[in-house]
Amino acid sequence: MKASKKKLAILIVQQEDFERERMVTVLARESVAVLSARDGFEGLEMVSEFMPDILVTDIALDKLDGLKLIAKARLEHPDIKVVVAFGPYSHKSLVQAVELNVDGFIRLPADNGELRNAVMKCVRNIAVARRMAQADYSLRQLLDFFPSPAVLVDGFDLTYMNQRLARFLGYDDFGDMSEVDMGLEDFIVRLNDETYNGHPRAWIKAIVNDPLDRDQVLHIENPRHPEARANVFSVTFNQFPGSELRLFSFQDVSEMEDEKAHLQDEASTDPLTKALNRRSFLRLLSQAAVSDYPFSLVMFDIDHFKAVNDTYGHDVGDAVLREISALVRDNIRENDTLARWGGEEFMVLSVRSNMKYAKQVADRLRKAVAEFSFTGVPGQITSSFGVALHNTGESGEELVKRVDKALYKAKETGRNKVVTG
Ligand code: GH3
Ligand code: MG
Ligand code: MG
Repeated sequence: MKASKKKLAILIVQQEDFERERMVTVLARESVAVLSARDGFEGLEMVSEFMPDILVTDIALDKLDGLKLIAKARLEHPDIKVVVAFGPYSHKSLVQAVELNVDGFIRLPADNGELRNAVMKCVRNIAVARRMAQADYSLRQLLDFFPSPAVLVDGFDLTYMNQRLARFLGYDDFGDMSEVDMGLEDFIVRLNDETYNGHPRAWIKAIVNDPLDRDQVLHIENPRHPEARANVFSVTFNQFPGSELRLFSFQDVSEMEDEKAHLQDEASTDPLTKALNRRSFLRLLSQAAVSDYPFSLVMFDIDHFKAVNDTYGHDVGDAVLREISALVRDNIRENDTLARWGGEEFMVLSVRSNMKYAKQVADRLRKAVAEFSFTGVPGQITSSFGVALHNTGESGEELVKRVDKALYKAKETGRNKVVTG
């Protein structure tokens, strides 16, 4: 998690010169500004003057003791974070300090690591609180009414998570989750085809920076059902005009993914090309047609394939079909499905697609085929493509008719091209 760009200020109040200077030295290595005071009065004066973000104070201080200092400092500066340093002496004061609900404790003489950890935990909590304050309150309320999981992202930082998502992850809300220092990244197990690296911003960057504008797929563990497979969410975002603020919305597509996994057995695939067979493809298509997700079809047919068979033989023709299937698989997302429609005709079904993506897929495949050297074929082989985006309410059959028509037009108007329908 990132701290705010402005350095946070930390005030150390400690009577013993040696101890105080050592603490200052340790914290000065972090990217924070460190102030120090020798007693409670001086400490309080510095709180008023410099408004430090974090107060690290000994309990046993002359003049004004640590507990009184904390109470007075909070009157001046209610959000100040407090770390109490305590020696082996005052158990009673320690109980009182617990009652003050401070943000951390360290034993004296302070261990460098303990001191650093206690202070850095405060720094992180301040950063989270600041980010939450940035996200407009009414916007957050609105997001909590959202029926699906959603988060707000400012730049590349997550600034708010709606209740729907927080509850899915096992927390009451975003505040509850931030308090224990957990982020969405702790639950993501896969991003698209890869194991997630755990970086808080990596998934955000992948989504925002995708040049093809595709939906990205996050696999998120459901903590209430750790034995179950991770839920699969498709994530899209919208940017608020004139700002760096983006709304990411999540759609649970686990069922669709399950269905796909189901289809990957032998009875469902074509033995020559290992693409989905026509029967299974039709089943997938009719499911997609009644789902809420936008999806597209790309249909293609190899140009003059009869001549390939006639010239180089049927075995070479078979090899071309196999090679073309592998080539297609290398050029589509894991979530896109390749099916053999018949003979030398294929379909690519892309869920959560849009026309821009579908057209890009077709263009990329057209180019890849035209540039590939197929085994046993000295010249180039080309293919023709039809592209269609599913219309709400449209049946699978109607969509196939449209994409077939587009492909026919590509053939009719010169082949080796992409026509959208
Ligand atoms: P167009 O550019 O109009 O598509 O011409 P085409 O020659 O590709 O079209 P046509 O439909 O006339 O021919 C398709 C050929 O594909 C005929 C058939 O021999 C061949 N074919 C279909 N299935 C297979 C197969 O499994 N293996 C081989 N080797 N050839 C196949
Ligand atoms: Mg054909
Ligand atoms: Mg053909």
